[in-house]
Amino acid sequence: MTLKIASFDFTCCEGCQLQLANRESTLIDFLELLNIRNFREILSEKHEDYDIVFIEGSISRQDEVERLLKIRERAKVLVAFGTCACFGGVNSLKNRFKLDEAVREVYGNMAIETLPVRKISDLVKVDLSIPGCPVAKEEVERIMVSLATDSIPTLPNYPVCVECKQQLNTCLFDLGEICLGPITRAGCNAVCPTGKTACLGCRGPAEELNMPAFFELVKERGLSLDDLHEKLAFYNAFEPLATDET
Ligand code: SF4
Ligand code: SF4
Ligand code: SF4
Repeated sequence: MTLKIASFDFTCCEGCQLQLANRESTLIDFLELLNIRNFREILSEKHEDYDIVFIEGSISRQDEVERLLKIRERAKVLVAFGTCACFGGVNSLKNRFKLDEAVREVYGNMAIETLPVRKISDLVKVDLSIPGCPVAKEEVERIMVSLATDSIPTLPNYPVCVECKQQLNTCLFDLGEICLGPITRAGCNAVCPTGKTACLGCRGPAEELNMPAFFELVKERGLSLDDLHEKLAFYNAFEPLATDET
């Protein structure tokens, strides 16, 4: 079955959409599965009939709200595509500031319209979420095949630590760093800890995670809870769990 898809970007860096177009080894096979109706980075034609729509980015302006509502009306299946769409992503950091003061600081007296950042599910029904900053191309391809064959798409429910251990990495906690791998959904092949960088949780919470135990681990290791909160806030992917400190 060929899927009629469209992809639209909102407040984001467009890195997730690029993931769909940049893996040349599988691109031809992948495109054969798709009837692309609207996708600015791949196609100049624009059609308004599509079944599955990928929404990249979070929402931070009123015109984006209105555009998103119209897209939702047309789509049978709406996919929140990437961490910005699923959780707000790095854009959510702006919600920590007073917006009028921040706008004045950055833009001076220019008239800039901006709203607090919201994830897609704050505004419309989301049928499927594919997290990641950026999304993992292999995972997107696997999910597309599931949709094309009427199977239920799934994401790994276990944490990043599983993939990290498979790669025989030294745990960053043993090197005195806080890593969100124990509470974050796997699927990225533990790319950050493998590169000696702590996981910041871009793929959001793993299933059945034990947040109080994770806070205890950080305390037992003598690491900073302030640093932990900074890391949890980075992608906004752990709200409201981030405050579950018991
Ligand atoms: S999730 Fe990351 S890569 Fe994707 S659009 Fe947002 S900032 Fe860019
Ligand atoms: S480095 Fe991070 S992901 Fe790897 S085992 Fe340690 S806590 Fe888990
Ligand atoms: S290791 Fe963590 S921050 Fe890095 S890509 Fe994977 S889930 Fe995202």
